[in-house]
Amino acid sequence: MNINKDLIIKYNQPVPRYTSYPTVPFWKDFENTENWKSAFSKQFSIDNKKEGISLYLHLPFCESMCSFCGCNKRITTNHKVEEEYLEVLKKEWQLYVDLMDARPVLRELHLGGGTPTFFSPQNLERMMGFIFESATIHPEHEFSFEGHPNNTTRQHLQTLYDLGFRRLSFGVQDNDAEVQRIINRIQPFENVRRASEEAREVGYKSVNFDLVYGLPKQTESSIRKTIAQTISIRPDRIAFYSYAHVPWTSRGQRLFDENDLPSAVEKLQLYLAGKEMFAEAGYSDIGMDHFALPHDDLYAAWQNGTMHRNFMGYTTQKTRLLLGLGVSSIGDVGIAFAQNNKTLQEYYEAVNAGQLPVTRGFLLNDEDLNFRQYILDISCKGETKFDAAHLPLLREFTFPELELLKADELLTFDENGLKATSLGRHFIRNICRAFDLRLLRNQFVSDSQVFSKAI
Ligand code: SF4
Repeated sequence: MNINKDLIIKYNQPVPRYTSYPTVPFWKDFENTENWKSAFSKQFSIDNKKEGISLYLHLPFCESMCSFCGCNKRITTNHKVEEEYLEVLKKEWQLYVDLMDARPVLRELHLGGGTPTFFSPQNLERMMGFIFESATIHPEHEFSFEGHPNNTTRQHLQTLYDLGFRRLSFGVQDNDAEVQRIINRIQPFENVRRASEEAREVGYKSVNFDLVYGLPKQTESSIRKTIAQTISIRPDRIAFYSYAHVPWTSRGQRLFDENDLPSAVEKLQLYLAGKEMFAEAGYSDIGMDHFALPHDDLYAAWQNGTMHRNFMGYTTQKTRLLLGLGVSSIGDVGIAFAQNNKTLQEYYEAVNAGQLPVTRGFLLNDEDLNFRQYILDISCKGETKFDAAHLPLLREFTFPELELLKADELLTFDENGLKATSLGRHFIRNICRAFDLRLLRNQFVSDSQVFSKAI
């Protein structure tokens, strides 16, 4: 599909990624943890019985710093840090177990980072041991982890497989040597191939690759080569992320010469080249930046409208309660969000003092809950239906925005609902923004110094 370049430039504005609504800049510092504790306990007793819960474990250490990275991580080559971290994580888990009125039923579990495979297989096994000791595993569980191709060993793969993990995601980013040099992530393609082949041999049923477009020095020809190599391995899913240039929050990005970054139009060209190659290779575009082969579960969930999105990204499971453990982790209990301390020292101090380490978050009101659902529908399905009770707000804030998007043929809508067009699917973040009442009412927060650009 040829997308008009003026349209790209017009919509390449700072827009949230909408992994939460209200988005993080609107969250507030907590005066204490009582509201979060009571929201957690209340929702846990409802959701755990009904559908089980999701658990995210943040493992923050990396051996070297990739300068493009916006994650919360701690760079070290000292593996002794694993011990202390796991001790504190265990205590944090126990603080939550004490708030639960029943044994938690684990339905979805994700190890993210940082680099989870920085931890030794033995320590990962020990960690899962103390989690499983107080939990029941849901019969339809989905356990996944992020692996670094450079340090994911066969033993990591086997240990986690034996613990019930069936899905993993490799951070590949880009295979070009010059791009890797600039982003300080030297990762021979051979490592990616080896790790993927071993994962398949061990029995993983879904291997995902994360690729990034818009990195310094990337060109259409270099990204085409990366994608051709990627396709040759046939990962079941591919996340093709836009590089978010936010040097005001990610210090490593300040090392980049901004002249090396592709322009907005060049960046979209990179995206379109990828999209075209994925389609030719049999991958379907299933939502914001994600592509999957037809045999993958996420593809089926997209097809039958059951795909879900939370802080872990797109998922096949619909559990409303997501508990995040570890430094900087985010929890989402449906009616409230909370984020843990972002520095290791503060995180350790809080947990060692017997306190939940949450420091900021948001308690949603009814309006937030309703508009959050619209945003979720659009992110996961590209369409939504309107509730007549919300029409006054929709008419005041959302419909004027939708009229502008409709004029550019990005969607169709009436007072019953909306549907993104195939062109509009490239601009899902911009469509979601029309439902972001907090942003539309409060232009003083945000934009250029808070959110990354849409493309
Ligand atoms: S991209 Fe991954 S490995 Fe690199 S610094 Fe960030 S979290 Fe660590």
